[in-house]
Amino acid sequence: MTASALVLAVFLAFFGARLAVEASLLLVNLGHSRAAGASVPDPLRGRIAAATAERSLRYSLAKGRFALASLAWDSSVRLALLFSGCLPWLDRALERAGLAGASRFVAFLLALAAADWIASLPLSLYGTFKLEARFGFNRTSGRTWLSDQAKSLLVGLALGVPLLYAAWFFVSATGALWWLWLWAFLTALQVLLLWVYPALIAPLFNKFTPLPEGELRSRLEDLSRSTGFRTRGLFVMDASRRSAHSNAYFMGVIRPRIVLFDTFLSSMSLDEAEAVLAHEIGHFRLRHLQRRLLAGVASSLAGLWVLSVLARWPPLFQAFGFETPSWQAAVAILSLGGGAFTFFFAPLSAWMSRRHEYAADRYAVAHARAPEALRSALVKLNGENLSNLHPHPWFVMWHYTHPALVDRLRAIGTPSGSPGAGAEAG
Ligand SMILES: [Zn+2]
Repeated sequence: MTASALVLAVFLAFFGARLAVEASLLLVNLGHSRAAGASVPDPLRGRIAAATAERSLRYSLAKGRFALASLAWDSSVRLALLFSGCLPWLDRALERAGLAGASRFVAFLLALAAADWIASLPLSLYGTFKLEARFGFNRTSGRTWLSDQAKSLLVGLALGVPLLYAAWFFVSATGALWWLWLWAFLTALQVLLLWVYPALIAPLFNKFTPLPEGELRSRLEDLSRSTGFRTRGLFVMDASRRSAHSNAYFMGVIRPRIVLFDTFLSSMSLDEAEAVLAHEIGHFRLRHLQRRLLAGVASSLAGLWVLSVLARWPPLFQAFGFETPSWQAAVAILSLGGGAFTFFFAPLSAWMSRRHEYAADRYAVAHARAPEALRSALVKLNGENLSNLHPHPWFVMWHYTHPALVDRLRAIGTPSGSPGAGAEAG
């Protein structure tokens, strides 16, 4: 067996395994939901209306089937791009057009990004305008969608093109340790973007207005003070322009902004909003964001090192039909094929994330004035978002970055007083 045939065999084995595992997880999860039907699990009895459970079931089934179709489509596109010979053809065509060095590298990867965007278009349109719309979540108009796409394209080009030229510079001018230099550069850029994003990029897509004076604001400010949390301010985001999904989150790392969706404010009581904010502050005080950033920076170092090793190895290129090694081919092969390997790390990162969620819940219970409010806030958020009430434990293990609602409530513990009573208040 030649080295390139071995590369091909290993790749196809991982690709097939990923496909089989992912399809099985989706099917098992669908079966689990179907078997449980619209029943309400014990810890949620009396907290979730029968009609909501029914809608959750239908939404979970529809999303599961959509995920299966997406998996089939995405896998076919990847295989077609990798094995139809179109990538080596593109590289030769650019060469014939007189492009070389940095400009060929950039043109090739931009063309690949465009192909990827076009291929993902049908799914993205179906997801937004059919699936989400059927359950009343979609509020994006065709115009908003188009302007979002145009803005993303411009931001992507403004950031991506200089980044690709910079990557080429490090690869060709900094010697054998280019990957270390590029990594240091990318890390610095990421820090800069974390700082620039809330002020310059996010406002292109949404309007952020300071939370108006009033009881809610003073309660949330009191909580920030008492937990020693320094924030750049509380903001309301006009999320309802695009979707009825509800949430609250942070923007920034050093002194973050707290962002509350307008959809969130309209549904939560004061106690509930405070409990959710206490949970978010928990993530910050327990240094979860910092740890996640570190994990991201470490994995990008590992990725660049792998690229530096593989890019010097001709059998990799032969396996995918390239006559000669090139940087653009290496990046294309790894970005299209790398997912078959990194997929198997997903349970590890999901597990880490779920642990952080449990820890932030404990923090919220210890610091919010009304711990019971966290339980009812979680039930509300899950109800409004029609989360799956009966996810299969294997699916949770592999993909859930947040614990299933029932597990989360169980971990928070039973409140003193009558369990389940008064949860819908507020
Ligand atoms: Zn959280």
